[in-house]
This record gives sequence, structure tokens and C-alpha cells, in this order.
Amino acid sequence: MSAIAFPAPDAGILARRDSILAGLSRLVAPDALITSEDERRPYETDALTAYRRMPLAVVLPSTTQEVAAVLRYCSEAGVPVVPRGAGTSLAGGAIPQEDAVVIGVSKMNRILEIDYASRIAKVQAGVTNLAVSGAVSADGFFYAPDPSSQLACSIGGNIGMNSGGAHCLKYGVTTNNVLGVTLVMLDGSVVEIGGSHLDSPGYDLLGLINGSEGQLGIVTEATVRILRQAEGARPVLFGFPTSVEAGAAVAAIIGAGIIPVAMEFMDKPAIEICEAFAHAGYPMDCGALLIIEVEGSEAEMDAQLARIVAIAREHGVGTVKESKSAMETAAIWKGRKSAFGATGRIADYICMDGTIPTGQLPYVLERMDAIVKGYGLRVANVFHAGDGNLHPLILYNCNDPVEAQKAEDAGNDILKLCVEVGGCLTGEHGVGIEKRDLMTFQFNEADLHQQQRVRAVFDPRWLMNPAKVFPLEGRIAA
Ligand SMILES: Cc1cc2nc3c(=O)[nH]c(=O)nc-3n(C[C@H](O)[C@H](O)[C@H](O)COP(=O)(O)OP(=O)(O)OC[C@H]3O[C@@H](n4cnc5c(N)ncnc54)[C@H](O)[C@@H]3O)c2cc1C
Repeated sequence: MSAIAFPAPDAGILARRDSILAGLSRLVAPDALITSEDERRPYETDALTAYRRMPLAVVLPSTTQEVAAVLRYCSEAGVPVVPRGAGTSLAGGAIPQEDAVVIGVSKMNRILEIDYASRIAKVQAGVTNLAVSGAVSADGFFYAPDPSSQLACSIGGNIGMNSGGAHCLKYGVTTNNVLGVTLVMLDGSVVEIGGSHLDSPGYDLLGLINGSEGQLGIVTEATVRILRQAEGARPVLFGFPTSVEAGAAVAAIIGAGIIPVAMEFMDKPAIEICEAFAHAGYPMDCGALLIIEVEGSEAEMDAQLARIVAIAREHGVGTVKESKSAMETAAIWKGRKSAFGATGRIADYICMDGTIPTGQLPYVLERMDAIVKGYGLRVANVFHAGDGNLHPLILYNCNDPVEAQKAEDAGNDILKLCVEVGGCLTGEHGVGIEKRDLMTFQFNEADLHQQQRVRAVFDPRWLMNPAKVFPLEGRIAA
């Protein structure tokens, strides 16, 4: 695929490469500066593997002070930078450009403080999402946002993309669970935003940093909220005859004011792909599956579940199967959380991330199917239904340029449909380069200019992750 344009590399920067590398080598230890082509190659793409660019160099600082020194140097030298966590972005957020220095936070991977009395953990930006829950689970606590990539993705990347996950329906996404960050600005200054407390006086700058896609600064530390684990949790499998009936059940459950802890959707292709991979015990005789997790005491779970089952019956549910053990629960979630990897075993795919009002689910599910079929392609749907956050995985063959283009076009049509029904282009994966050129579909010129004015306060020269988020045409000048 080659439809999305990157800015042409600055020939002046490429010509100065040797002196830029010499400058960087004075700021970090030798093993923290990656210059050879072989060692730069793992950084030329992220999880949007259809696009790739070899960066000028990769720097892996170990401290906030090193990040500050490298950013100050790049700013003074006029060199673009691309912040990077674990490189699992599905929107191409961490893909570099040829004249840019990648600044990765993977060496900053320590948990700095756990304070149960204040319900917070202070962590470095390179700590993986799962490691936060791992550090507190034995004491009965957890960190709520749980992207399916949580074994690998970093807290810094989660903040960059304002990431979500299966259990965000009840507990909110990253922005609802981060209380403070240490942010290094492009000029090397270090600012503290938020803190260990619930809210801060003045503008909600923390809200601005969450989802800023590496364009406003580099997060080096974060204070996150940790929560007490519920007394019990029970995922239940609901098999429906069709996707439309499952979608209608989701809308009805939410409409009845019930908020389970998670409500995940899989259509038939997704069920077959995930079951073959994880042997999770999913019902195979249905057209669509909802995994609905309830939590609390046994009595609370029974009461909530009874209401959900009654609504599901009104929408034609066939199978209702409760998890009976910790092993079954683990298998059910393993199947769901491995969905993208399992799909990758059978075909290339692009994963879209539109979000819609949940009331629109039945209509949009039907239309999405028709859109993909119209291009002669196949789709597997597996997504966070309770949040209306769709993830159609459009299957294609990456060695066939015509098919690859069709997959991208089908994805764009689906995202436009999401906007048309009152939703948006991204629920949790971010804009990156993937949806950059669709931003004009969601926002008018005045909207985009105002957003860029905010960005310009932090980076007036377009040096921070400049290929992303805003279409290349129509950008406001410095
Ligand atoms: C199999 C799979 C499943 C996934 N499931 C989910 C899911 O359920 N929910 C979900 O929301 N996402 C999901 N994702 C997408 C991805 O994992 C998230 O976007 C994640 O938060 C990216 O984290 P990362 O550390 O890999 O960041 P990267 O990919 O390295 O970077 C992501 C963005 O953040 C910026 N960034 C990175 N670190 C910093 C920093 N320290 N300071 C400032 N900016 C920074 C980058 O410039 C880039 O724009 C999935 C991805 C995969 C491959």
C-alpha cells in the first residue's frame, strides 16, 4: 500500500547526518544510540506494517534528563523527532520518517512508587501496561485500561494514544486513569502536569496530553490510578443467531442503564479464528457472540446477569454459557485478546477503529458487511461493543496491490459511515498516519486550524511527530 503520503525528507538534514549523529553521541551512552541500518530496521514501522520508513537514528535514553538533552539538541538542530514506546500502534503513530530521530522510552521501565493509601502508582513511561497490574495484583489492586496488546505496549504509548481496552466500559480509558505526567518539551524543559491528586486547578492540560500522539512532548513518568479488585468477576458467553440481533441486544442492555464491566462482540468469522487459536469454548453454532463480564459479590453478579439474560432473550439469544472456573475465564479472555494475532495467522488485515453511538450498532453492522462485500473482500469483526468501538478486521493479501488498495478504501468507507451516524474516526487507536487524511471528513477547516494553534504552542516548527494527525495540505504555518 502506498496511498498515504509522508512529507519529503529534508535533504539538508540527510546531508548533515554524520554531524547529527556525532552531536547525539555526546548526550547518551554508546549503547543508547542506534545508527547502523540493521539495528534501525526494527524501528522503521510499528503494527501498521503496510507502511515503513528508515529513521535517521534511534536514541534510547535512560533518564528524563537524557530525554531533555536529546530533545533540546534536535530542536536546536531543526531535526524532527518521533517518540516511541513499544511500537504497537495500529494507526502508524510510531512510524518514523527518513529525516527524523526516533526517541524510544523502552529503557525507562521502572515502577517508581506504589501508594495504596492514595490508590496511585508512579511509573516510568516505558513500563508495560500489564506490568502495572502485575505489580499490585497480589495486594488486590489493578490498573484498569487493558489494551489487548497490554503485554507489550507501554504506559507512554497508552497516554500517546489515549488507549482503551475490554474493561474500559466501566472504568474509562487512559485519560480517566492517569492523574499526572512528567512531560519533556521540545526545548528540553521539563514540566509536571497534574500530580497524585484527582484534579488540578486551571486548564485540563492532562486531558490535552492524553491522546496527543507524541506531538506535544515526551512523557517520561506517569502517576496512574490503581483500583481495588472486585470481589468476583464472571464472563458469560451469549450466542446470537446474527450480528444484527447481537448489536440490538448491546444497545438494549446499555439503554436499560446496565453497565457491565466488559461487553465484547465477535462475529462468526472472528469466533472461528479465535476458537481455533485459543480453544476458549466459544459456541460455534451461532452467528455472533457477546462476551459480557459482570463483577461484584455473587448476589450482585446474579442480579445483574438476570437482567442481562432477560434482555438477551428478547433479542433471540441461543446459547448462554457462564464461566465456571478461573481456567475457563482465562481461556475466554485469551481468545478475545488474541484476536488480532490469531487473525494474522490466516490473512493480512487492516484493523479499523471507528466509534459510534451504541444505538446505531444494528444499522452499522449491517452496512459494514455490505461495504466490505461490495469490494469483494472478507471481514472479521471483534470489538468493544459496549463502548460502540468497532474493530472490523478487513482481510486481504498484502502481495496484491489491487486488493490492498481495496482494503484501504473499504476501511475508509467504514470510518466515514461511523462519522455519518454521529460517531468518530477513532475510539482508541489514535489518528496516526492511518486516519490523518480522513480528518477533513470529521472536522471543518476552522476546527482543524484551532487544533493546530494549540499544537503550535508546544511545537511551532512541526518537529514533533510531524507526519501524523493533521493532513499535510492546509497546515497552518509557524
Ligand atoms: C495485537 C494488538 C492489539 C491491540 N489492542 C488494543 C486495544 O485493545 N486497545 C487500544 O487502545 N489499543 C490497542 N492496540 C494499539 C496499541 O497497542 C496502543 O495504541 C498502545 O497504546 C501503543 O503503545 P506503544 O507503547 O506500543 O506506543 P507506540 O506504538 O510506540 O506509540 C504510539 C503513539 O504514542 C506516541 N508515544 C509513545 N511513547 C510516548 C511517550 N513516552 N511520550 C509521548 N508520546 C509517546 C508515539 O509517538 C505514537 O504516536 C493494539 C495493538 C496490537 C498490535
